[in-house]
Order: sequence, then C-alpha cells, then structure tokens
Amino acid sequence: MANHIDLLNQSVQYLKAVGPKKIKLLQKLKIFTVKDLIYYFPRRYEDRSCFQPINKALQGTFQTIKGRVLTSGTRRLNRGRTIFQLAIGDSTGVIYGTWFNQPYLKKIFRVNDEVILYGKIERYGNLQISSPEYEILSKDFEDTIHTGRIVPIYPLTNNISQRYLRMIIKYCLDEHLGSVVEFLPEEIILKHKFLPLIAGILNIHFPDNFKMLSRAKQRLIFDEFFLLQTALGLKRQKIKTQTNGIKYRIRGDLLLNFKKLLPFQLTKSQKNVIEEIEQDMHCDQPMNRLLQGDVGSGKTVVSLWALLICVQNGFQAALMVPTEILAQQHYQTIQTFTASLGVRIGILKSSLKKAEKEKILFEIKEHQIDIIIGTHSLIQKNICFKKLGLVIVDEQHKFGVLQRANLQQKGCCCDVLVMTATPIPRTLAITVYGAMDVSTINEMPPGRIPVKTYWITEKKRQDMYDFLTRKMKNKNQVYVVYPLVEESEVMDLKAATKMYEHFKDVIFRNFKIGLLHGKMKSVDKKLIMESFKKGNLDMLVSTVVIEVGIDVSNASIMLIEHAERFGLSQLHQLRGRVGRGGEQAYCILLCEGKTQDAVKRLNAMVKTNDGFKIAEYDLLIRGPGEFFGSKQHGLPELKIGNILADAKLLRSARKESFAYLQNRSLVHANTQQLISLELKNRFGQNKDLFLVR
Ligand code: ADP
Ligand code: MG
Repeated sequence: MANHIDLLNQSVQYLKAVGPKKIKLLQKLKIFTVKDLIYYFPRRYEDRSCFQPINKALQGTFQTIKGRVLTSGTRRLNRGRTIFQLAIGDSTGVIYGTWFNQPYLKKIFRVNDEVILYGKIERYGNLQISSPEYEILSKDFEDTIHTGRIVPIYPLTNNISQRYLRMIIKYCLDEHLGSVVEFLPEEIILKHKFLPLIAGILNIHFPDNFKMLSRAKQRLIFDEFFLLQTALGLKRQKIKTQTNGIKYRIRGDLLLNFKKLLPFQLTKSQKNVIEEIEQDMHCDQPMNRLLQGDVGSGKTVVSLWALLICVQNGFQAALMVPTEILAQQHYQTIQTFTASLGVRIGILKSSLKKAEKEKILFEIKEHQIDIIIGTHSLIQKNICFKKLGLVIVDEQHKFGVLQRANLQQKGCCCDVLVMTATPIPRTLAITVYGAMDVSTINEMPPGRIPVKTYWITEKKRQDMYDFLTRKMKNKNQVYVVYPLVEESEVMDLKAATKMYEHFKDVIFRNFKIGLLHGKMKSVDKKLIMESFKKGNLDMLVSTVVIEVGIDVSNASIMLIEHAERFGLSQLHQLRGRVGRGGEQAYCILLCEGKTQDAVKRLNAMVKTNDGFKIAEYDLLIRGPGEFFGSKQHGLPELKIGNILADAKLLRSARKESFAYLQNRSLVHANTQQLISLELKNRFGQNKDLFLVR
C-alpha cells in the first residue's frame, strides 16, 4: 500500500511529455505530483459525442464532424503568415478546416486519414471550421480524448493548452490510475450505490456518458465531504479528551452582584447560551465555542458573563475586537458594571504612548488587570499574561485564523469563545467552524421594532434631506455612511469628508454634525463617538469604521450612500446600528442599482431584517468560497464539493462520518489505516483546518 502512495506522490516530471518547461507551468496550476494531476478536475464539459453530417452543420453553431481528409495544403499570406487547410468529406458533403500559422500540421494530417474536428461552423464561400480541435483516428489509438466524446475542459494557465493537459492527464490515468486505492468502506459504497473510486476518477475526466459523469461527481464530492468531516471529527474527539482545562466554579458573589446590576431581563435565548457556556467552563475540557447571533441580539452581555466567571475564579480574561472604536465602546459598557464590582479592567490600543503602553503591559503581566480589552494589538509577542484563563474574540469574521491562534498561545489551555454576527444555518456552521461547538442566539431583546428599509435613487435626494431635517428636529440622531474616505477620481464617489462639509455648511447648517473616519487620531475618534452617544451631535457622517458592534441606542436613522459598493452582510451590519431604542428606525439605501448582484443585495435588504436570511442570501449571491473566505475560516479549499449546492451529499457524508468515528473500534484495521492515510494525504499540509485549537 505504501508503494502505491509513493507512486502517486512522485513528481509529474516522470510522466511522458512533461519536460522542465511544462513542469513550471503545471506548478502554476498547483500540480506537482501524479496525484495532483489525477485530482485536477475539469471546470466543465463539452458534448462532442454526436457527429453532425456536414450538410446539416448550421453556420454559427459548434459541431463535431467526422470524415476523411480529401486534400491538404498550405498557403502563404502576407507578412510571413501561413494558412493550412484541409478538405474533409463525409457521405453528405465537404467542409474546410483552416489553421493560421501552424504549417507543421501538414506533417500530421495525411490524405485519406479519418479525422474528427470540433469547432464553430462558418461560411466564407465554402463551409469552414477554423482552428478546430482535431483528432486523427487510427487503429492503435482507439480512445479519442479531444473530440468524439464528452470532452473535459480544464482550468488553464498561459502557455498550457487544453489539448496538452488533456493528453497528459490521459497518459497519467492510463499509467497510474491502478495505484489509486479505494479507501471508502464497502458498506458505504454499496449503501449509496457509489462508483468505485477508480471509476469515479476516470469518469470525472473522460465520462462515458452524462449519467456516469453525474455518478462520478457524486462519488468524488462525497469523498471530499466525508474526509473533511472525518478530519474535523477526529480533531474534535482529540479536544474532547483533553482534560487539562480550567474547571471554573460557576456560582459566586461576583456573578450574583452582576445579575443585580443588569438593567434588563435576559432573553430565553441568551439564558440558553449562557447555560451552554457555563457547562463548558465548568468542565475540565477547555471551552472551544462559537457564539452566533444577529446584530443587536445581545451578545455583549453574554460575553461579559463569561468574563466575570473567569475573573471570579482568579484568572485573567482577554476580549479581542476588530476596531479601536469597538474596543473603546466595550470598555465603557463593561466599566459601567465592573466599576462597582471591583473588577480591574484595561484597554490596550495601538495608539497609546509608549509609557502608557508599558504600564498596561506591566499590569497585565503582574495580574493587576483582570479583563483586558483590545484590538489585534492583544496578540503582539511582547504581551505576557500572568494567568490567562479565557479569550473572547468578538466579530470573529473580521479576524484571520492566525490572529486567533496567536492569542491562544498566550495561555496554555485557556477557554475560547468566539462571537460572530453573521449567523448561518446550524448544519453549515458545524462544518465551517469545524472543531468548535456552536451556540446560537435566535431571538431579539423584546420591544424592538423592525427597521424600515428603503432603497432610493438620486432623484429622491432632496426628499430624503427633508425627511432627515424633520427627524433631526425631532431629536432623532442620524448616521450617514460612505464607502471611501477620500475622493477617488476613478470611482467618482462623494467621500465622507467632502460631504460632511457640504452637510455642515449648506444642507443641514442648523444642526450639529460630526465626522468620523479611520484615518483620524484615536482620541478624536473617541471624542466624536462620545458626543454622538451623549446626543450632542445630530448627525454622524462616517466611513465603515462604525460597521461592527457600535451601540448607540438613540440613533434611529441610517443613511448609506453608494450602497451598491457594500456587501450584503456589511449592509446588514450597518443597519444593525439603528433600531436599538424603542423607536421606529429607518435604513435608507441610496444608489442606482448598477449590477445584477447589487440589485439582488438591495432587494434582500428591503425584503428582510433577519440576519439568518441575510446570510443565506449572501451565501447564494456570493457563493460559499467568497462568503466564508476559505483562508479566514481555515476551511480547506474544496475542489469539487460545494457546501450549498451539494447540501444533500454533505448531510449524508456527515452522517457516515459520524457513524464511522463512533464505531471506529469495530471497523477493520485496514480500513482505518486507509482512511487515515487518505486524510494525511489530503490535509497533511493544512494546519488551519483545525480551527482555533
Ligand atoms: P450584539 O449581539 O450585536 O453585540 P449588543 O450586545 O450590542 O448586540 O446588544 C444590543 C443592545 O441590546 C445593547 O444596547 C444591549 O444593552 C441591549 N440588550 C441586550 N440584551 C438585552 C435584553 N435581554 N433585553 C433588553 N436589551 C438588551
Ligand atoms: Mg456586538
């Protein structure tokens, strides 16, 4: 068996027709080994299996023609160009195949050869087919691969042709397919009527017919999902056997006093997830949990709960957020509770002066701070915790995997809670977040009135200004969001700064207007946010720095300029900034629907307020690859499976994988070994697969 694997892992350089130049090009396609080539799947297929009688070949259509070479010849054109032409005849007529600047073809075709051509039918006096794909039939070469069948079309790079790639893949399959070892247990294959692996691979490249192609896809997609689930499952099992986590005491004065301070009743959903978190923290395996909930569903208070349990047990906790503005806000929210509880909190910002920063670092190191809040500055190497017990990552979709992993290394077996405001269906979440447990807040705090969302065009700008004037007179606060800070000539966007001046001096000169953008100094940002929060500003003109997490309950109107420039999830996050008070809130999307996708996004925004639905639309519009950004999530790139489109196969793969993992001790050792070899082969390089831990 090891031998087989070695054969598959050998470099493609040993293949026929693969020289040093081609090797470089193949590497661009991430093809290094025989196995890479075998698993380099077509992007699409062309049905060239039916031969069209020449007299029925319609001009402008793509056709496959089979006939004999009647004449062959090369002509010189001006400027050294040549044209090579073949006359091909079948029993119904004659057609001319033409190729420019490929005089060598003269040596390839002989009169009377039986050939197949595939290409676009044209008519320049005669029927023609220019630069067709071709194949010469002969007795010793029975399989056609470029024509006369369902033909694979591969993703290419410069200087590699379909023809070449198809040819070496064919060589490779002829020579090495036999080394591919079936790893899927026979019961699974029989139960799902899957093709054997070898037949699957053969038919994904050179399908006998469309039925076989579809079966080949099924088999290979299942494999991909099954192996991914199994890798994640094994990782999970491994985590679950770790018993070196901190066993927190849940009951305690700190938590009791905190409950008394809470100005509202927790929702049922908040209570449920708190219970799940408490169970995690109480047991001796480290917590590894994802908390998902729509914007405004109240994740902050849940995280605070966990932070306090940690502190109550004499440990330090860290809360990591994507922006300084959000860090500042969390700091203030948390301080309103912790001030009277005697919990020491600190904020670490990249903008701190050297002395201030060193003081905080010292306090962290000496455990003079219990809860530290900060941006990614929290993961810098020079930060040492005395006794780190819990790490919470807010708005995790804004962080890369690596950043999260780094923070974790600060405390050996600390608990981890990551929070996200782009909730996705549970089945998907388990796959995408892999080894993590998933909790979901699925209700909003009571009394929220759904935000009314409107999509308007430039024609309505004046009406919109009138509306904002009325609302601001009425003490409603307004956010105005722009996609860019500075005017870009190319895109002709009205930048936040310019519009701010226009609003301040002209349109809304009787109101107090503030400006906030990412390039401002952090103290200035803080001052502006504070005065907006206090109600000293009627309007805040800003760039997307307010996108995540900002919580100002008396702001009730969100105007988004150039809404077509924002992604759907981002629009929903922005909208989530309003509607937090008891008043009717509005979200106004200003833009001309430019592209089809933009129109889809805006329609989705108008149609629903539900973050789960928004995420679903977003997934559909962008596709899972874009939506999750496989790098961000540490999810290995799927070659053929699509977690949305192939949801049914994903479900059955997960089921089989769970069953396999559960009964592993009963499964034949050989099968186990085959599966684990395959896992190593596919994911061995992928450290990120194993999210967080
Ligand atoms: P997110 O989940 O987007 O982080 P936040 O935690 O910022 O949401 O909460 C949004 C707002 O809802 C905050 O002002 C918070 O005080 C309030 N809130 C949270 N939970 C409740 C509740 N159970 N009842 C009433 N208001 C709540
Ligand atoms: Mg939040």
